[in-house]
Amino acid sequence: MQIAEGTVVAMDYALKDDEGTLLDQSQPGQPLTYLHGHKNIIPGLESALVGKAAGDTVEVRVAPEDGYGAPNPALEQVVPRDRFQGVESLEVGMQFQASTDQGPVSVRVVKVEEDDVTVDGNHPLAGKHLNFNVTVQDVREATEEELAHGHIHQGGGCCGGSGGGGGEGECCNDDKEEPGGGCGCSH
Ligand code: ZN
Repeated sequence: MQIAEGTVVAMDYALKDDEGTLLDQSQPGQPLTYLHGHKNIIPGLESALVGKAAGDTVEVRVAPEDGYGAPNPALEQVVPRDRFQGVESLEVGMQFQASTDQGPVSVRVVKVEEDDVTVDGNHPLAGKHLNFNVTVQDVREATEEELAHGHIHQGGGCCGGSGGGGGEGECCNDDKEEPGGGCGCSH
């Protein structure tokens, strides 16, 4: 079967930046599985996989605009150090939840000075070219429920099938009215 809209794809992948540094990879025997055509993965990788089948390997360099976007300078902010009360030693790389007008945003500390702390709310991969090396492991037809929810259901049920949902065909938060079916899955 070839990868197309409405198929579920399992793939091993490694992700490197342009310097060849390994940024992320799937664990052996635990391929990344996603529903194709529903923006579950970045567009540049999704489009490179169209038409591939199990056993195919794909190498693709994804530009930031097809990946995590360009960094938004407005998301980098200097905040007074006393806003971090209770944090013993502030260090570059620490992550915090900041509350914003758009809801909670995960920010990283990028600079620590005497009285000021610079935090960055951009995705860590924003502005980067992403070099993927992918091996397609499996391609199957998505179920109707998966298509309705816009994400995969592994292990026979929603949310991994481990007690998250109710009976067959039920999902964790089916009563929640959300686009895409209203499942509360985080995946
Ligand atoms: Zn679901």
